[in-house]
Parts: sequence; structure tokens; C-alpha cells
Amino acid sequence: MLLTAGGAFGFDQDRAFMLLEAQCAFGPRNPNSEGHEMCLRFLERELGYWTEAVELEPFTYVSKNTGEELHLTNIIGHINPGARDRVILGAHWDTRPMADQDPNPDNRNTPIMGANDGASGVAILLEVARQLYMNPVDFGVDIVLFDGEDYGEESVLDDYLIGSRYHARHLKSPLPRYGILLDLVGDRDLRIPMEPTSQTYAGAVLEKCFAAAERVNSKSFVRETGKPAYDDHIPFLEMQIPFVDLIDFDYTYWHTVEDVSKHCSAYSLGEVGRVVMEVLRSEKF
Ligand SMILES: [Zn+2]
Repeated sequence: MLLTAGGAFGFDQDRAFMLLEAQCAFGPRNPNSEGHEMCLRFLERELGYWTEAVELEPFTYVSKNTGEELHLTNIIGHINPGARDRVILGAHWDTRPMADQDPNPDNRNTPIMGANDGASGVAILLEVARQLYMNPVDFGVDIVLFDGEDYGEESVLDDYLIGSRYHARHLKSPLPRYGILLDLVGDRDLRIPMEPTSQTYAGAVLEKCFAAAERVNSKSFVRETGKPAYDDHIPFLEMQIPFVDLIDFDYTYWHTVEDVSKHCSAYSLGEVGRVVMEVLRSEKF
């Protein structure tokens, strides 16, 4: 029998989906936009309900490509702030300023809504935070919402992963034992293979996630090697902190104006949310 409804193994996928839509209601959340500013306040408040301490990590970054000065903020919710054994759960909260993969060239300078690319991972983590508030674990969890993941033009890698690089550089002791990143996890046809860079440098953590997926019967996780992702786990791997990327890169509406909530589903958020909860529930440091 599976204990997936309520109790210690709960994850409310409908609430997670509502949180995805709540982010989209602010409009695109690309850096320096009005939606970005409003969503920052929303996420700060939401994490504040369910974690002991919310920390904002504001900084400026000048784009290597456009010279624009970006006002960025990582948002961190600390659970059990005094615990020495810690895990990071991460997702990017910013959205892409241009739909450069849109089939219609007229749309390619339009900011995307980022229902899947941005809001999905954040929505799951906000619900995970609430579940941990109701059923605490005895180690530390830092929910880190990265800014500036998806700003860069395809050829300018420096303009990607801006927030995660900043956060990794400013990590305080004790360093996290490991991290789990969620990105593009709301697709209606969710299918999460093993991301190769995670497999190579954080294989044990990836195994933990896929074993948890089997225990909760999450069929969206498939044991095959996917495409490598240049994503927010990289700055941590460079510091020898095992960090995995749970990502479904195969999304028809990726970086298009059609990355909207109707192409995402509560069920998919639940598939991933239950796995993250199971990893945490079975953790013994
Ligand atoms: Zn993206």
C-alpha cells in the first residue's frame, strides 16, 4: 500500500498547481520587469508562512551581452536553520525575457510566461515547504529560489545561471550535503530521464531520487540517460557539492510564448513533489 494521500507523505498537487498559476498571474517575471518585482514580494511572503527564516540575497549584475544592469534577488527559506546537516532544494523563479524559440519570428522578442520554465519548480517547492512545516524533518532544508537563470542569449553562457553562481559563491558553512534542482517539471507529458551531468558528478543523489520515485510509483521518472542541461546545479557541482537536476527537457513550448499553464498539469507537479517528499522522508544523516 502506498501512503501518498495526507499524513507524513502528503503533497497537495492541486495547491501546487494553484501556486504555479499565481506566479503566472503576475505576467512574465524577467529581471527588471514589473512582474518580477511583484512576484518577488509574493514568494518572500509565501516562504515566510512555512519556513523559520526567509533570507533575500539581492545583487546587481551587468549583462555581458547587452550591458544592462539587472537587479536580481535569490530568495531563500531556511528550515531548521541551526541544523548542521543540510539539503538544498532549488528552482529558478525568473522567466526568460525573449521567446527566442517561438515558431513565429514576430514573437521572439516577447517575454515568456514561464508556466513550466520557472513557475513549475517553484510551485512544487512552496508546497514542499508547507508539508515540512506540518510534518517536520530533523535536518536542515534550504529552499533556494534562484534569480537570473534564464536571461542569456544562447551564445552568451555568462548571462545564464546568474543567481545560482552568486549563491554558490556566497554559501556559508555548514555547506549542504547535497542539492536537488527542479526545472521544467510541469509538462503535461512529464518524463524525467537521468540528466547526464548529474549522473556523472552526483550519481548517488540521482539514485536516491530515482529509487524514491520507484517507491512512490512515480512513472514519470524513467531510468534512461537524457540530454545534458546547463542549469543551476552546475555552480554547485563545480564546488564539489553533489547536486542533481530533475528536468524534462522535452517540452514543445520551451522558450515560446505558449509556455502557459494549460500545457502544465497538477498531476505532473504531484509526481515530482511526492518524490522530493519521499527523498526527504527517507533521509538519515
Ligand atoms: Zn528556460
